[in-house]
Parts: sequence; C-alpha cells; structure tokens
Amino acid sequence: MTERLYYTDSHLFNFTASVLECAPEEKRAPGSDGRWKIVLDATAFFPEGGGQSADTGTLTQLEAVEDGAPRCVRVLDAHEKNGTVFHYCDGPLEPGTRVTGVLDAEQRRRRMQNHSGEHILSGTAHRIYGCENVGFHLGDAGMTIDFDRELGSEELLRLETEANEAVRANLPVRTFFPSAEELSLLEYRSKKELFGDVRIVEIPGVDRCACCAPHVSFTGEVGLIKILEAERHRGGIRLTVVCGMQALEEVRMRQQSVTDISTLLSAKRDEVASAVQRLLGERDALKEKNAALAMELVRFKAEQQGETAGNICLLESMTDEVAVRELVNLLVPKCGGLAAVFFPAASGGLRYIIGSRSLDLRKAAKAVNAGIGGRGGGRPEMIQGSASASFEEIQTFLEAFQS
Ligand SMILES: [Zn+2]
Repeated sequence: MTERLYYTDSHLFNFTASVLECAPEEKRAPGSDGRWKIVLDATAFFPEGGGQSADTGTLTQLEAVEDGAPRCVRVLDAHEKNGTVFHYCDGPLEPGTRVTGVLDAEQRRRRMQNHSGEHILSGTAHRIYGCENVGFHLGDAGMTIDFDRELGSEELLRLETEANEAVRANLPVRTFFPSAEELSLLEYRSKKELFGDVRIVEIPGVDRCACCAPHVSFTGEVGLIKILEAERHRGGIRLTVVCGMQALEEVRMRQQSVTDISTLLSAKRDEVASAVQRLLGERDALKEKNAALAMELVRFKAEQQGETAGNICLLESMTDEVAVRELVNLLVPKCGGLAAVFFPAASGGLRYIIGSRSLDLRKAAKAVNAGIGGRGGGRPEMIQGSASASFEEIQTFLEAFQS
C-alpha cells in the first residue's frame, strides 16, 4: 500500500519518499521505448481516477549514483491497483534510494480548481433541481458534466449564480473516511453504491460526494465557475465548464475576439452584435442587388447574340448558376441546335448548362460528354455538368456537333 500524501495535503507539490520497486512496463505502447513502473513508499502524485487524469512531474534521486550525477526521471502517468500507486516513468530508479518528487503544480492546481468547481456545480444542481451527475470528464482543455435532466437557460443562469455564491462564501472543503456505520447513515452523491473505505468530500450546505481526487481547501480557491456550453445529451444535458485560471484564459480569449470584431466593425464592444446584424442586412441587400444586375447582364448578353441555325457556345465568367440557366433559356430560341454556356467551377475546370428545343439532350448527353471530357446529364431540353477539356477544344467540338 502506498501512503497517499495528497489525501491529507492536496497542496503538497514537493515531497521525499523511498523507492520500493522499479521494473520495466510489461506492455509497451506501440512505438514507445518502454516505460518503467516505479513504486514509492509514499506519493503526492494523484493516480488517474474519478474522471481526473494522473499528475505528471519528476522524481530525482537524492543520493548520487556511481557516475556521480543524481538520476532524474519524468513521471508520465500514474495508476493505482489494490492500494499501490504505480508511477510510469521514462527511466529507472534504484530501489532503496531516496527521491524527491516534484509535481507539475500548475496543472494540478488547475485540475483541483476545475474538479472542486464540478462538485460545487453538481451539488448545487442536485440541491435546487434534483439533478444527478451521470458523467464527468476533466481534460486539460476543460471539463464536461452530464446531468440526467434537461435544464433551460433560466435554470442554468440560476445554477451558475448559486455555484459562484458558494465560491464567494469561501467555505471549507473537508475530506474524511467515515466508518461503515457512519457511512450507512450519511447522505452523499455517488454514481454507484460503495463499500469499504469510502472517501467523502464535503462542502457544508453545498455538496457531499464520494471522491478519491485531491481538492482545494476552501471554495474561494476555485475562482470563477463559468458554464460555456449546454447541449442535450442522452435525455439530459451536457455542460462544458471552466473554472479558475482556465476561466480567466477563456474570458481573455473571448474578450480579444470581441475587441477584434469591434475594431473591424468600428463598433463599441457591447454593440458588436447589432453591428454584425446590420452588416448581414447590408450583405443580403447586396446579394439581391447583385442577382438583379446579373439578370440584367444576362438579358443584355442574350440580346447581343445573333440568331443561328447551328449551335451557340459561350464561355462566361459568371458563376451564379441561376443566371447561367437564365442565359441558356434566352439563347435557346436563337439557335437551331443547342445553346451551351460554360462557366468556371469552384474546384477548377468548367461547368456547363446546355439547352435545346430541337434536340433530345438526354439522348445526346453521352456524345456531348465524350467530346468535351465531361460528366453530367438532365432532362431532354436541358442538361448540366462539368467538362475537363479546354474551352478551345470544347468550342471546336460543339461548332461541328450535330445530333
Ligand atoms: Zn470528484
């Protein structure tokens, strides 16, 4: 059994311990050089559990070894099995030596802010809405919390406010192992029924929950609790939440976005939404105007086209399919054969729309496509598709084409 130092002091980020065992990892991850499993008599490294990832950091031998330099290894991961914590390291340490363990403290502090924030939020949701926490994931990019019922936007606002009230109250966070008898009388949140040594994390008036992870000492340490997103999830709701330093970074990032938008639009920061709304209105009006101009241009181009007993083949720069189709419709009465308009495709190459009132284009499509390196089809009076040949080749082919 490893003595879990983080149980009694969650703010212990440096500690000394003795190396009890060191062995190569049995199963190597594909492509890795292999890691070493190190067991200490005591550790402040939290092994993965309860939705929270393992701590990382270093272990440094206090005594110099044969070559004179104290060996230092990185703790990449940690897991617990039957009370023993295994530190997965990038090198070996000699059993019997003393080591100093140093945790990546900033990472641990952030995780504690988020995890304790999650307890406050889940306890508050349980108290005011009777929600059960049915899922929790704490990653380095933030955390998600799943509740078993949906919550509306007003309910979420109240939840967020009350959770932050609990932070402001700076309540003590108490952790303890009740006796079996005490436990049977205790009301606490847990995803499953627990027996044996159960660790309870209690925030008076806010939450009582079975949890093995390290937590802040007072709720004030959590800092801001901010719900970023809420989405329906398996009949309930999934919240994306950030706390503390991570919340500060998120707020900074969003503030920068708003500042950038406000500069681009020359709008005050609290008026960017109405400025974007105005811009979208202007864009829609321009689109409409643009479409009307395109139709005017189409009619003008059609008027310029002389009548012919043969085929018409044009290359246009316009990319609006509606306008091109209208041009084809206006050209069809001016020719005895087919009226073809080619225009640029977004992916490169050319697209086409071909119309005719004398030919059955559905039947002619195969021959047309073969001649222009094309693909496509449609109705007897109109086909459309794409072409890979150059416009000069297309023009030569279609000038001579007869069905
Ligand atoms: Zn927990």
